[in-house]
Amino acid sequence: MLNLLPTQINIVLSILLIILLGHAYFNMNRKTTTNRLFMWIMGLTCITSILEIFSVLLNNPNLKQFMVLHNLVNIIGFIVTPIIPYLAYIFIKEWVNRYQEEKIETNYILLLPLLINGIATLTSNNESGLFYITSNNTYERGALFFILPCVSYIYFVYNLYFMYKHRKKFTFSECVMFSSYYILPAVFTVIQLKNYVYLTIWNSAAIITVITYIFILNDQAYRDGMTGLGNRLAYEQYAQNINHRKQKELSIIYIDIDEFKNINDQYGHSEGDEAIKTFANLLSKSFTLRQKKLIRLGGDEFVILLEENQKEKVVSYIQNLTQNVETYNNRGEKSYRFKFSYGLVGYINANESIYQLLERADQLMYEQKKSRKSELYG
Ligand code: GH3
Ligand code: MG
Repeated sequence: MLNLLPTQINIVLSILLIILLGHAYFNMNRKTTTNRLFMWIMGLTCITSILEIFSVLLNNPNLKQFMVLHNLVNIIGFIVTPIIPYLAYIFIKEWVNRYQEEKIETNYILLLPLLINGIATLTSNNESGLFYITSNNTYERGALFFILPCVSYIYFVYNLYFMYKHRKKFTFSECVMFSSYYILPAVFTVIQLKNYVYLTIWNSAAIITVITYIFILNDQAYRDGMTGLGNRLAYEQYAQNINHRKQKELSIIYIDIDEFKNINDQYGHSEGDEAIKTFANLLSKSFTLRQKKLIRLGGDEFVILLEENQKEKVVSYIQNLTQNVETYNNRGEKSYRFKFSYGLVGYINANESIYQLLERADQLMYEQKKSRKSELYG
């Protein structure tokens, strides 16, 4: 009778990952690179967890007839293991690149450890390799076993370094989430390396993969898919929370692109989409304060919530935007020029709700737009 007891957590978590993978496949946008990568990570984590179940069950002198299968299960497991943190590197790189104009390039040198590990695994069949299966059908680590954890740790460390290097491009919650994705399995790997009866590596990886999936779904719910800025739901959530906190330091800027319909009419709707994305990028570039929320309320309307009440500072961010828009227009990449109107309000009256504040900002924006139009058209 097979002893399933040591692998019961693997079995439960593998089933959970299969269910979530099915959910992801049918509910996530599979055209998005980060989503596809995440599905691969989830799938490979699940496969490795299942392979581990087999490798434990087959590690039995009474099952000598399955020796070839036992060997094969370990070979695949050894090859796939470091591919997962490598894919996790590609994932965070693509995550950062999603809405950026200047993309971060892939560091192809990072494929080298994978290659070394793969070759070492395929050439392992005795004590001098990574692992071997004894004539008694039991698994033993070989002299080169250290290659596998070393390669995995290279990726754990590199991924953390990557996040640190590009920290400005991550939000606080992304930093916490993605770094735990590497730190948790890295810590639990030590336990299993010391004593491989504790199957901690893939179980910790499975748990953090499930949490990351929830994080990604949550992120998608609050993000405008086209620009990567927060959506109306994100604004509502922020508004609810801030009303609760009676936030004092808050400024709201309501922005609407002028005569945006002309871009749609003259150059087509998809060029209009590109224009909205470009404008959103200019917003991100101009409002460098960390405590901010950039929201696309819909169409060509944007709201910027700054946890800053000093008018001069807020005005300086708007000047940044004006300057960046001007520079973009002068580059002459497109035949149209961006113009925008805005309304700025600060949190003066603590009894005023954020919704009233937004209404005032909208009114000020509208007045600016009207006076611009009357200047232009008389
Ligand atoms: P105004 O100067 O008064 O702001 O006029 P406008 O032409 O900018 O028009 P308005 O702000 O009233 O409306 C924005 C238009 O943007 C309405 C709609 O046709 C278009 N629009 C809304 N959402 C999208 C989108 O996702 N993509 C594209 N291409 N156009 C959109
Ligand atoms: Mg407009």
